Amino acid sequence: MTKKRELKVYGVWAGNSRGVKEDETMCVKTVHDTGYLSHGRQCSRKRGHGKDGLYCKQHDLAAVKMKDDEKRKKWREGNENQEAIRRRLEILQKMARGIHTDKLKKYKLKPC
Ligand SMILES: [Zn+2]
Repeated sequence: MTKKRELKVYGVWAGNSRGVKEDETMCVKTVHDTGYLSHGRQCSRKRGHGKDGLYCKQHDLAAVKMKDDEKRKKWREGNENQEAIRRRLEILQKMARGIHTDKLKKYKLKPC
């Protein structure tokens, strides 16, 4: 890196127009505490992950994205499994119906 990245400023609002300067040892992600007085502050976890090592483990974008992909993959696999089960069930039902109809024919009974 040749050009120094400009430091971020957090929590700028009418009551604190200068905000809070970025702590260069902490994750750069802006987090919002719950409550109406939240103006966003710097994540309080140590950085060292993600792009340029600027993020904490939790906010490492690559890790977050990977987790999402994993979730999506699992969800898709789950759906595929359900689809396979549904198809198998359909075949079984058809088979059962077929056997039933065959028996009816064999005993010359009317289908119900
Ligand atoms: Zn963080």
